[in-house]
Amino acid sequence: MVSYEELDKQYYEHIIRNLKDRGVELEDIAEIVIFLEKDYVKGLNNDVAIHAIKKVLHKREAQNAIMTGIELDVLAEKGLLSAPMQRIMETDESTYGIDENMAITLASLYGSVSVTNYGYVDKLKHGVLGKLNDKSTGKINVFLDDLVGAIAAGACGWLAHNEVVVQELLKMDN
Ligand code: MG
Repeated sequence: MVSYEELDKQYYEHIIRNLKDRGVELEDIAEIVIFLEKDYVKGLNNDVAIHAIKKVLHKREAQNAIMTGIELDVLAEKGLLSAPMQRIMETDESTYGIDENMAITLASLYGSVSVTNYGYVDKLKHGVLGKLNDKSTGKINVFLDDLVGAIAAGACGWLAHNEVVVQELLKMDN
């Protein structure tokens, strides 16, 4: 039987690979985290932001949401979904809402700080989120834009709820 730790490693590596394939680096997500949290975590840097993002990417429920969302985007891009879903994904139908619901579920794992931050960056389309929303590329990122926003927001929640650890990490970095 595959252990929980082995599955975690497998899922984490799969997600990192998928994010990269879809044009998202951890640094892009860290940039959003720093944008959102710089006024709340003094001296927040790239390393600590990435530490928080990795915490999110190792959480099983977050992994499941990310893998599911990216899989649907990729299948839709290949034209492999059945008729109503294929059309919904191709047009990124604004009332579909399951992409946002999945992101809110992910963000909820890290409390209200995370949920409110997700809504905020989703509206702003800050940083890489703007690129993922660009429909002229021919890419389908119905789920990915929301999931990346939720990963960043989740990292913000993790930072807010782990103040002592965060201060220690920042001291080690300086
Ligand atoms: Mg979306």
